[in-house]
Formats: sequence, C-alpha cells, structure tokens
Amino acid sequence: MKEITVVEPVFVTDFRCVGSECRDHCCKGWDVTLDKTTVNRYLKSAQIEIRNIASENIVKVKKSFKNWGLMKLTSKGNCAFMDEEKLCKVHKQMGPSALSPTCATYPRTQYMHKYEVKKSLTLSCPEATQKLLTRPDAMLFNQTVQIQAEANKNEDVDNEHKLVNLMCANMVKAAGCNANEGLYGIAMLLLHLEQMKKEQGFNSEALENDYFNIMDAIGNGSAAQNIAEINNNQELQWSLLMRMQTYFSSKTKTRSSDMLQHYLTKLVHIQISDAKDHDIGSSMTRLDAVWNEKVMPWMAERPHLISNYLQYRIYSDSFPGYQGRSPLASLYLLTAEWFMIRSLIAACVELVGEIYEDDIINIIYSFHAVTKHNNSSMAAFFEEIDNVKVNDDLSLIYLLK
Ligand code: SF4
Repeated sequence: MKEITVVEPVFVTDFRCVGSECRDHCCKGWDVTLDKTTVNRYLKSAQIEIRNIASENIVKVKKSFKNWGLMKLTSKGNCAFMDEEKLCKVHKQMGPSALSPTCATYPRTQYMHKYEVKKSLTLSCPEATQKLLTRPDAMLFNQTVQIQAEANKNEDVDNEHKLVNLMCANMVKAAGCNANEGLYGIAMLLLHLEQMKKEQGFNSEALENDYFNIMDAIGNGSAAQNIAEINNNQELQWSLLMRMQTYFSSKTKTRSSDMLQHYLTKLVHIQISDAKDHDIGSSMTRLDAVWNEKVMPWMAERPHLISNYLQYRIYSDSFPGYQGRSPLASLYLLTAEWFMIRSLIAACVELVGEIYEDDIINIIYSFHAVTKHNNSSMAAFFEEIDNVKVNDDLSLIYLLK
C-alpha cells in the first residue's frame, strides 16, 4: 500500500457552492461539454423532462469520449438544464451523481504527483474568489494522508522546484499588501538561482542564504528602497494596458466577459482621456496616485487580501516554470497579470471615488474566467503579454515601480 499526501488550502476545504445566490452562475456563457456516458445517461433518463431537454439541446459532436456532446445554450446564454431558481434540473431530479464530470467537479481542480495531490479551486468561481480574498486564513494548509494500493501514475515531486515554490510563497506572504516588494524579492531569488545553476549547479544551502537575505530586505525596507530607485517606464506600462484592452475587446463574448468589460471601460476612459493630450504618462501617474493614496491604506487594513491572491497563484500555478517556461518568464507573466489587475482596481476607485470589496472580487474572478478558462485561452493571453516585453523577462521590474 502507498501513502499519498493530500494538501489543500483552508478556503478549498471549506468551499461550498452558493447555487442560486451566486453573483455570476457558472451554468451560462460557456460551452458545456459532456462525456459519452453522461450524454447517454441524460438521453435515456427515466425523468421525462431531462430526456426531452437532452434530446432537444445536446449536440453530439463525438470528438472524443470526454467531448461527446455539447449543450446548446438558451437565448439568455444559460445551460438548458438550469431552472428559474438558477438551479440545475439534473442535480434536482437525478441527484449529484448524475452530473457530468465537469459539472460535478467545477470549480475544484487538482494537481497529481506520484505521492502527493494538491487541491485547489479555479477563481472563475466568484464564491471561491470571495473566500480567498476575504478570509485571513484562506491560504493556510490542511494536510491529510490517504492510503492507495498503488502510487499515482504521475511524476514525483521535484524537490528543487518545491523548495523554490515555498520560498516564493513565503516572500509574498511576508510582503503582505506590498505585493511589489514580494515580486521584487522573487525576481532577486530567481536571478540568483539562474546564476548559481550556470556557475556551480543547484545548491540548496546557498539558495537558503539568498532567501534569508531577501526576506530581511523585505522586512527592513531595503526592498522598497530598491524599487523606489528603479527608473520609471510608463510607456511599457501603458502599452501593456492598451494591448490588454485591444485583446479583450476583440474576444468573442463568454461567461463573465461583460463583468470584466465593465471595469475595462473605466480603465479605457482614463487612458483615452489622458492620451488626447498626448500625455500617456499622466494616466499612469494618475493610476499610481490613486493606488498609493486610496487603495493602499484600505489594503493595509486587510493585508491578507493581496497576499492571499499571490500565494494562491504561486501554489495553484506550481510557480515557477508554468507550461515549460523558465522561472523568470513565469515571473514576468505573473507580474504583468498582477499589474493589469492592480490597474483595473485603481481605475475603478479613481472613477467611483470609493473602494468596495465587491469590485475587487468582481475584477479578479472575471479576469480569471476570461483569461484562464482553458489551455487555449491561457496560451492566447500569455502570447499577448509576451509581445509587450522589452529585451528580456527582467523588464518585469518596470511594472513594479
Ligand atoms: S460559480 Fe461557483 S458558487 Fe457560482 S454556481 Fe458555479 S460553483 Fe456555485
């Protein structure tokens, strides 16, 4: 028998779907694909209503066993099985075990290793985002052991990667609401790591030394000082935001894209009104000022909010090295995404005049719903971000200023 360690953050353990209370239900706006077994189960159901809905609304695409059927959406963009109370008729009439694997597991995800399973939630679910951002203990971990006859058929944990991942998570945790200091610390650590591997190979003791020095720099204010001395590159920041706007407005509408568009419009308003005076720098200065003067004091009272988000990303993306990218390239993407989210929050506060927790939840869950729905949406979005890079991955430093 084999022991498998199962790890999950507290907000994952405690997650409960709020069903009809949800601010943006997941049974709409997305392609709902069904596997062959589920298609047949619905078409042959003893429940007449389920059978009728299935025969009228399931398109048999037969692309693979997993992708056998596709639900047609109603004129309002809802799954045809959703009732007036925004509850699933399959769940109600046939029970949870009748749901397709996708519907039964969403928003839960898991990453398997040979002797370890890491559980998480996708933030395209607003309830998951709300719990992550508002619970101070959301990113504390629960660990259990399960006994299996055999190990999982996945690769074993890479201990070097695991160590770097833990160090990065600790840095953003130590930085609290000063996300840029945590990201700066990670950049320093990854640079040292790259250098070390080139010169002498990986040495965990030397890396631990670097890590403790960087943690000291975050704690004693010298990381903040170093960021203050970086030259400004508002042009890069502006180009990244403009590129993001063009990308999102050219995308076909999907679930939550209206919500994201609501916040993008505010950002566009600020960028366009300042660009009229041919002064792209002034919109960036305006966003920076509102972030420092209004958002940061609010965040300082809730230091877990940003820190939980970045800890989540480091944990759930198995940072660094996402999809075969180098550690620094992974950090560039994470920093660019954080910069976009931060700009959307700042633009909203600048135009609304107040800061509301709900706006921050809306921005983060809709951003994830649109950019991280599946592998192809992630790849397309990352390609856009990559196109703005100047010289190399270290241009991420200009997004911290
Ligand atoms: S998005 Fe989340 S909370 Fe909302 S209905 Fe889906 S699983 Fe439930």
